[in-house]
Amino acid sequence: MTYIAADSKDNAASSSTRKAGCIFCDKPRQESDDENLIIYRGVNAFVLLNLYPYNNGHMMVAPYLHTAKLAELSPECLSEMMRLVQNCEAALYKAYAPQGYNIGMNLGEIAGAGIADHLHMHIVPRWSGDTNFMPVIGETKVLPDSLSGSYEKILTAWHELANAE
Ligand SMILES: [Zn+2]
Repeated sequence: MTYIAADSKDNAASSSTRKAGCIFCDKPRQESDDENLIIYRGVNAFVLLNLYPYNNGHMMVAPYLHTAKLAELSPECLSEMMRLVQNCEAALYKAYAPQGYNIGMNLGEIAGAGIADHLHMHIVPRWSGDTNFMPVIGETKVLPDSLSGSYEKILTAWHELANAE
């Protein structure tokens, strides 16, 4: 999981400003969901695209609560997060039909978390051969789809699936 989804260093605020500049706290407080690449706001957690994706459609699910520990999340939050991961899988399948997914968390800097103070789940779609272009760790790469293109595509898929329920 570290190999695939270690957070980019660019994604992290410096350690001295981390608390004040936590993207997982700041973004949901703002009202520009398209700029912040927020796909969905749940009750306890929200869904967004990674600004420094490891693949087209690299999504994340984060709780609103600023915490580094799973132990501090309520059962309701944990269950909502897994349900949102389920929705991410479905939306990515509808938008991109990936051949597989890496889904997981890096807890703590030593484990590869770029933003260690606010835990988050990565959902990374995978295709045969994509590792040929995958950096080993911590670097972004040129992607065939632009971020705004990915955002529109996944948002559309997300809403179509929600309406179909
Ligand atoms: Zn936070």
